[in-house]
Amino acid sequence: MTDQEIFEWLQKNNSRDLERLFRKAYAVKEEIVKKTVYFRGIIELSNICEKNCFYCGIRKDVSVNRYCLTRKEILQCAEFAFANDYGSLVLQAGERKDDAYIRFINETITQIKALSEGRLGITLSLGEQSYDVYKKWFDLGAHRYLLRIETSSETLYQRLHPADHSFHNRIQCLRDLKTIGYQVGTGVMIGLPHQKIEDLVRDIRFFSEYDIDMIGMGPYIPQERAPLSTQPVDLDLNFILALKMIALTRIVMPDINIAATTALQALDPNGREKALKAGANILMPNITPQQYRADYQLYNDKPCIEEEPLLCLGCLESRIKSLGETIGYDQWGDSIHFEKRSKK
Ligand code: SAH
Ligand code: SF4
Repeated sequence: MTDQEIFEWLQKNNSRDLERLFRKAYAVKEEIVKKTVYFRGIIELSNICEKNCFYCGIRKDVSVNRYCLTRKEILQCAEFAFANDYGSLVLQAGERKDDAYIRFINETITQIKALSEGRLGITLSLGEQSYDVYKKWFDLGAHRYLLRIETSSETLYQRLHPADHSFHNRIQCLRDLKTIGYQVGTGVMIGLPHQKIEDLVRDIRFFSEYDIDMIGMGPYIPQERAPLSTQPVDLDLNFILALKMIALTRIVMPDINIAATTALQALDPNGREKALKAGANILMPNITPQQYRADYQLYNDKPCIEEEPLLCLGCLESRIKSLGETIGYDQWGDSIHFEKRSKK
């Protein structure tokens, strides 16, 4: 697909065109990554963050009750995931770089590997770290890393972050992760204030030029505690735009993993199913203990904050089956793109 074609699709909004696009993307998905959905149970292990991204509800300067799960709590979540045949976990948190925290994560990775005899795949989403820290975590058994670039436009990136947050460092981190041998995931927020359609076209090109293995992207949703929320956005438009971005990314990069993110469900109760229909193949059920969820509100109205993990699982299972898809229980569901890339 040319940039011009991507641009034109991103501007189309009538339901017949959208239907055509989603069907085209679904056909690519069916042929290449098939109709199997893989689960990554996400543990939001801490909302303590050293950074101050203007859009985020757990940025350093907001007043929110700060928590960090104990190792025991994290391992209980991991046991839950393992017992329910989730193939993988995602450990996500605000960004911290102090030695005590790095050691805490080291030990946590080791113990999750031990409790599952190496069977649970571990994806990390713990922000920007040094090469050595990424390497250490990889050597201990984490094999996938999610670090969104947020936007591939440096100018827009600068508008969304304080001056000491570096776009170039974020890119360097993606390079380091790849050199070390991780499956590398990135993504963007869609429908940000001042974001242009051209920026989104460039985002898709960025994914392909950086030979990314996994994508997690979703609509930008204002969070009332964050400074960017004073700039209004059209959430209905953001939702559709996010689905179109998923479909177009699937067409441009047929063999990568694409997540149906929770932010989509925050805007539409069937958001994640619609994303699966538009080409996504990964779901990230939230398995964070109930009592912490309200304090991990990156954006307004995060769904499932009141549901227990098992209820979430039951409702997910029936929703997926109703789409005619199966769940890849007890499998890592690695990115086919990564497998091909590592054989080169
Ligand atoms: N601290 C880590 C991981 C947690 S934040 C990091 O920043 O990489 C995970 C993602 O949440 C961010 O990458 C961002 O894309 C998303 N996010 C934060 N605030 C958001 C908002 N208001 N709307 C939509 N997504 C948001
Ligand atoms: Fe911290 Fe990540 Fe939120 Fe930025 S997006 S403030 S790094 S949790």
